[in-house]
Amino acid sequence: MMTFTVAIIGRPNVGKSTLFNRLVGKKLALVDDQPGVTRDRREGQARLGDLDFTVIDTAGLEEADPASLAGRMRAQTEEALASADAIVFVVDARAGITPHDRQFADLVRRAAKPVILLANKAESRAGILQTYEAFGLGLGDPIPFSAEHGEGLSELYDALREALPEQTRLPDPEEEGAEAEPADDADRPLRVAIVGRPNAGKSTLINRMLGEERLLTGPEAGITRDSIGLDWEWRGRKVKLFDTAGMRRRSKVEEKLEKLAVSDGLRAVKFAEVVVLLLDATIPFEKQDLAIQNLIEKEGRALVIAVNKWDLVAGDPGRLKRLTDDSERLLSQVKGARIVPVSALTGDGVDRLMEACFAAAEVWSRRISTARLNKWLSRVLEGHPPPAVSGRRIKIRYMTQVKARPPHFALFGNQLDSLPESYTRYLINGLREQFDLPGTPIRLSMRTSD
Ligand code: GDP
Ligand code: GDP
Repeated sequence: MMTFTVAIIGRPNVGKSTLFNRLVGKKLALVDDQPGVTRDRREGQARLGDLDFTVIDTAGLEEADPASLAGRMRAQTEEALASADAIVFVVDARAGITPHDRQFADLVRRAAKPVILLANKAESRAGILQTYEAFGLGLGDPIPFSAEHGEGLSELYDALREALPEQTRLPDPEEEGAEAEPADDADRPLRVAIVGRPNAGKSTLINRMLGEERLLTGPEAGITRDSIGLDWEWRGRKVKLFDTAGMRRRSKVEEKLEKLAVSDGLRAVKFAEVVVLLLDATIPFEKQDLAIQNLIEKEGRALVIAVNKWDLVAGDPGRLKRLTDDSERLLSQVKGARIVPVSALTGDGVDRLMEACFAAAEVWSRRISTARLNKWLSRVLEGHPPPAVSGRRIKIRYMTQVKARPPHFALFGNQLDSLPESYTRYLINGLREQFDLPGTPIRLSMRTSD
C-alpha cells in the first residue's frame, strides 16, 4: 500500500500536537501549556475510520528566540508542506485569527495542495464566531473542531477522504467502527429501502428488479441475500435493496398487517439512504403512507415516490398532476421528492425510478459552501429580517452546513431560541429552493450565543 502524508500546520499553541496525538493514538507528543515548547518534528501513523496515513506534526518552535523564529518556522513548515499530500491547517477558535495565522496561511496557500482548515478549541460551541473569522483566511470552510475533546472528527474524516487518494483506504470500511460517517464512494452500494403498505406491489417490484422470482427462490448468480438486504447492480452501479415485504411475509394475521408494515418499514428506513415510498396508483395516499413520511423525516433519509400499477391507470392523464399536488401538500417535510410512475408488473418506469434514487442520494449528500450560504443568507435577511421578540432584536450572524446526509445547517446568532417557527420554515424552504434540495429532509439547528 502506498503511504500518504498529511502535515499539521499552524502557529504555536493552536493544538497541533494534541491533534497529532489524537490521530496517532499514542501520547507520543509532549503537550505543554507553555506556548512554543521546543519539540522535534514528529511523524506517526494515523488512523481515522478507514483512512490510514502518515501524519507530520510541525509543532515546537521556540518563541523566545524571535531573531531566528521566522526563518526556522518557515523552514520547518516548508519542509513539511513539501512532503505532504494534504495539509491540515489549525487555528485557535478561541483566540481568533492573528497576523501569525495569516503568515502561515500564506505559506500554505502557496503550497497549492489540498487544505483542510480546522478551527480548534471549539468544543461545546466555544469560539464559534471566530470560526467564521477563519473563513477569511481563504483556505475554505473552517471545520469547528476540538482536538482535546475529539469533536469534529467526523467532519475531518469527510474532508480527508476527499483530499486523499483512494489508496489510503483500508479494504473493509464497514468493519472499522469508524467514528466518522462514511462519505460518498462510487464503490459503496446505494442503500435503497422499498416501503409501502401491504399490496402496494413491493415484492413484485423487487422481483422485477432482481429478475424473476429470485426473491422467493433464494440467491442466484450475482445476487446475494444477507439477513438485511439484497445486493444488486443497476447499470454497473451497486445497489443494496431493503425489502420490507420479505420481512413481513411470515405473518398472515390480517389485522396486524398494517402495524407490521409500519414496523418493518421502520427497520428498512433505518438501514437505507434512499427510501422509495411505493404507492398503489389505484388508491393513492393513505394515512399509512403519511406515517412513513414521518419516519423518513425523523431518520433523515432521502425520498423518492413510486406510483405503482400505473398500467391500470395510464389512461387517466390528470392523475399524475393530482398525485404531485397531493404529495407537495401532504409530504411537506420532504418537499419536491421525485414522483415516478412505475409498473412492477411490466417493468415500465423501473429505470427511471433508479435514476431518481441516485439523483436523490446526490441531493442528500450535497455540501454547500459557507460562502454561498452566507451570500444567500444576507440577501434573505435584508429582504425579510427576523422579527423583534419582546422588544429585543433577533440577530442572525451567519450560517454554515455542519453535515450532509441529510443536509444539516447551523444558524449562528443571538436570541435564536426565540425565532418563530414560521421564520425557520421560511429559511428551510428558501434553502431548499435556492440550493436545489428536493426530496430530502433539511435540518436547521440554532447556535445561539445568548
Ligand atoms: P501546538 O503548539 O500547536 O502543538 O499546541 P498543543 O497541542 O501543544 O496545545 C496547546 C495548548 O492548547 C495545550 O494546553 C492544549 O491542552 C490546548 N488544547 C489543544 N487542543 C485543545 C482543544 O481542542 N480545546 C482546548 N480547550 N484546548 C486545547
Ligand atoms: P406487497 O404486499 O407490497 O409486496 O405487494 P405484492 O408485490 O404482493 O403485490 C400485490 C398485488 O398487486 C399482487 O397481486 C400483484 O400481482 C399486484 N401488482 C403488483 N404490481 C403491480 C403492477 O404494477 N400492476 C398491476 N396491475 N398489479 C400489480
